[in-house]
Formats: sequence, structure tokens, C-alpha cells
Amino acid sequence: MRITGAVSRPGAPAPELAELELEEPRAGEMRVRLVATGLCHTDLHAHDGRLAPLPIVLGHEGAGVVEALGDGVVGFAVGDHVVLSGSSCGACPSCAASLPSYCDTAMPRIFGGGRLDGSMALKAGEEPIHSHFFGQSSFASHAIVPERTAVKVPADLPLAKLAPLGCGILTGAGAVLYALSLQAGQSLAVFGTGGVGLSAVMAARLAGAGRIVAIDLSDERLELARELGATDCLRGDEPDLALKIRVMSGRGVDASLNTTTVPAVFDAAMDCLAMRGTAAFVTAPRGDWAPKMFAMLSGGRSLKGVLGGDADPHSFIPLLIDHWREGRFPFDRLLTAYPFAEIARAFDDARAGRVIKPVLLMDGDTHDA
Ligand SMILES: [Zn+2]
Ligand SMILES: [Zn+2]
Repeated sequence: MRITGAVSRPGAPAPELAELELEEPRAGEMRVRLVATGLCHTDLHAHDGRLAPLPIVLGHEGAGVVEALGDGVVGFAVGDHVVLSGSSCGACPSCAASLPSYCDTAMPRIFGGGRLDGSMALKAGEEPIHSHFFGQSSFASHAIVPERTAVKVPADLPLAKLAPLGCGILTGAGAVLYALSLQAGQSLAVFGTGGVGLSAVMAARLAGAGRIVAIDLSDERLELARELGATDCLRGDEPDLALKIRVMSGRGVDASLNTTTVPAVFDAAMDCLAMRGTAAFVTAPRGDWAPKMFAMLSGGRSLKGVLGGDADPHSFIPLLIDHWREGRFPFDRLLTAYPFAEIARAFDDARAGRVIKPVLLMDGDTHDA
């Protein structure tokens, strides 16, 4: 069918809207009419051609309504409201352990630019356009998604708000609740208070953390972090940052979460840890960086890479929605809505850090988010 999609091409500053042809869903796939899609930093990197092949339709925080089912889809019906998350096989040891972000085939499914057999679902005229980004390619009016990419959500909730649950919000909250298993009374330092970091702050409060230290270069974001649960806020450019965190927490923090790519922040996120502390990170350091091995050895400290918050979206997204409905997880305060046609402005604002979590609304109407 004819759809509208935002195509990323080499050299263009942002994806551009185009009329595209979308295949019918194949076995195990569904067609979803998108209502909204969050914009995540991974989209910015991928648009520059560093993660996935171009030309491609990006977007991996989609939310919408199931419109058509391929053969063999059993868990969904036409009309179901869904939030889209990552793609996984459902059969490997990681999937069996409810850790689908470490699926044996996660990387080709997410960044391969099509199905595992190499086929793509999109064309611009006769030109093939890469699809299936994170099993979604949701910068579009419609997407073909594998069944396991979708999570059913209650139909009485605004999809425009739920969209970012599929990646950014899930990543920050899951890192705290699953990867770090933060317990009541424990302390956490969060480096970088964007969408992932602020979700981590909210989750730490949910977990009953004692001290929650937020670190950022933006006073405005630190203020928001405080409103969302941070007990202490520090500017990232303060001298002796790690020492200050150690002093305010008494013996260092039990855990840290680094959402930045800055090598010096990777140092601080390790140096602020108490004995047996864990430093989790969700993105790799820019340039060369190596941990201080003796500090790890002498303190039993760990450095832990975390994708998708170590969460299973099928159980975690409904749980986060419950917390949100009860007023304990106000993630919607992070969102800024844009009409889909203004995707270039959303990219600009996200790159410049002017907004925390842009959400594109496919019907062009921003009053709902
Ligand atoms: Zn798997
Ligand atoms: Zn993401």
C-alpha cells in the first residue's frame, strides 16, 4: 500500500517525508498504523549512516493500531493498540531468559536494514528502501512489524504518550530495576539527565532508593531531576565530581548509571562507587577509554553494559503503564510533541538538547501529547 515515510539519505540533515510503497505483512508480521513515534539518540546516530545501511526509514519508539495480520500471528487482533519495542527471535537462550535485547540475532534484526533473509518492506518507486529498523521503521504512517516487536496496551490510553516506552523510558527504568536491581535504601548516581537518565531517576524513587544523585550540565534538567526524585543534583563540570559524590553518600554509591559517551564521565561513574558497586552504561565511550582495573579488583566493582534495560518489554511496558496510571512514574513530563511533517525540527531540537524526548504525531495533531 501507499504510505508516507521519512527516509534517511546520505548527507541530508534529517529524514525527509516521501510517498513509499509498503509490502503486505508476511508470515509472523503485522501492519501497524502508527499514531506516534518517539525520537531517540540511536535514530540520530543511525541517520548519519553509522549503525544501519542507507537509505532507510528509521524510528524505533512507535505506537499505533494493528491494521492487518500476516499468516500465523496469534497474539493480536486487528484494532489492538500496541507499543513497539525491539525485535527478537523468541527461541534462543536470551529470549528464553526474558532478556530479548540480547537475542542471538538481535543485531541483524535491529540494524540489518531488513528482514533476516535480506528482504525489505519498503520501496520509493523502484528503489528499495531499508526497513525493519528495530523491527519497526516507525518514522512512517504505517510499518510492517514482526509479532514479537509489539506489546499490546490498553485501548483507553493515549498512544501519543505511550510511544517512548518502547526504548528510552524502558532503558532507563529497566537499567535501575533489572540490570542494577537497586534495592530500597541503596544509593544511585545518574550521569546525564536526558530521557534515559530521568527515567532511571523515577525508577530509583519507585525502588525506594535512599540517595539519588543526578549529574548534568543543564541546570534546567537538574531541576526537573529533583522534581522527579533526585535527592542531590550536581553539575557535571564541577571539579572532583566523583569525590563529591563519595563524600555526600558517605562511602560511595551502590550503583551508577552513565547515559553519556564522555570518557571522563566513564571515569567518574566508576570512581564514585562504594565497595562492590556496579557502574552500568547504556552507550559506549567516544574514543579510547579503559577502566581502572585495580579499583575494580580491590573493591569488587563491576562495569556492566546494559541494552534495553535488561527488561522484557512484554511484561515491563504494562508494568510501567500501571505505575504511570497510579501517578508514580510521570514519564509524560519528558515529552515534547511535533507533527510528523516537522521531523527535521525534532531532529534539530534533539541534537541541540533543547528537548528531552521529542514525539512525532503521525496525524499531525499535537494537542494529544
Ligand atoms: Zn532470541
Ligand atoms: Zn532508542
